[in-house]
Amino acid sequence: MIITIKKDAPEIEVQRIIHSFEEKGFQVNNSQGSDYHILGLIGDTTSLDIKNIQANPYIAEVTRIAAPYKKANRMFHPQDTVVDVNGIKIGGQEKIVVIGGPCSVEGMDQICTLAKEVKDAGADMLRGGAYKPRTSPYAFQGLETEGILDMVEAKKQTGLPIVSELMDAEHIDEFIQYVDIIQIGARNMQNFSLLKAVGKTNKPVLLKRGLANTIEEWIMSAEYILAGGNPNVILCERGIRTFEKYTRNTLDLSVIPIIKERTHLPIIIDPSHATGNWKLVESMSLAAIAAGADGLIIEVHDNPECAWSDGAQSLKPEKFKTLIEKCRGIAHVIGREL
Ligand code: PEP
Ligand code: MN
Repeated sequence: MIITIKKDAPEIEVQRIIHSFEEKGFQVNNSQGSDYHILGLIGDTTSLDIKNIQANPYIAEVTRIAAPYKKANRMFHPQDTVVDVNGIKIGGQEKIVVIGGPCSVEGMDQICTLAKEVKDAGADMLRGGAYKPRTSPYAFQGLETEGILDMVEAKKQTGLPIVSELMDAEHIDEFIQYVDIIQIGARNMQNFSLLKAVGKTNKPVLLKRGLANTIEEWIMSAEYILAGGNPNVILCERGIRTFEKYTRNTLDLSVIPIIKERTHLPIIIDPSHATGNWKLVESMSLAAIAAGADGLIIEVHDNPECAWSDGAQSLKPEKFKTLIEKCRGIAHVIGREL
């Protein structure tokens, strides 16, 4: 961390500042030229609050050199994290993973039929929401425990691991017992108590990027889970909110190489919520694989017009199958399996 001291700062104040950091265990390099006066702090500055330091009237500027995340940082963990979900590996140079299924579980028959269809299409895992974060309190809120148990039956029939969204720590035991990957939705990306709760478990967590969050905020949320002791974090880009109206969100594919450079965590793409339009899902999936994504999570429904949520972005199983076949072609080009 570099602290720039104001030109007119009295020496006694500078010494006071230096002393306050030395007391906290930092080594302080004091360097003064004719045009500048800077202090270089050496040590782990993650717990220091830049705004608090800046409150000192003799300090002009504070600049962090190292990223504020440690456990997620590739610098301290050069090898890729590979998350093992019942033997299916996500991350590293392992096979690219495809997760398919409806936005919402609508009943046992629906989810069991879809589970077979997505499996036949080539999916590795089944998604389905049982607790739904809806903008309107009057919209369908999910089948809750019944929906989770329907997913369990679909898993029993197909062998596909199941992914579902946890909205409240109150239901965490149910998820630990039944679900293979706990999804933390975009709206809860900064629900820090929920992040702490899943950090205490050992379950794989799919952490979606918030609707309007920076990459650093997203990595810091992953850091919460890692800092809690759970190393099994998978990041998921699902589009961010911009001025653009032709798509539901704007898919930020540049995060793939950025996340891979800065962190060691796997990253998958959700082209369904990113675009909000089934017609765009295939092309964005192909682009995501080409850009190095470790997987895709895609909404699939037998009858999208009648879906209880997110029908407009849901693919029919045949289209999902074609998408997987095309993505497999791109995967081979970049030397990966799908
Ligand atoms: C979902 O996966 O159905 C969902 C609500 O996703 P997001 O949190 O990305 O909006
Ligand atoms: Mn959805």
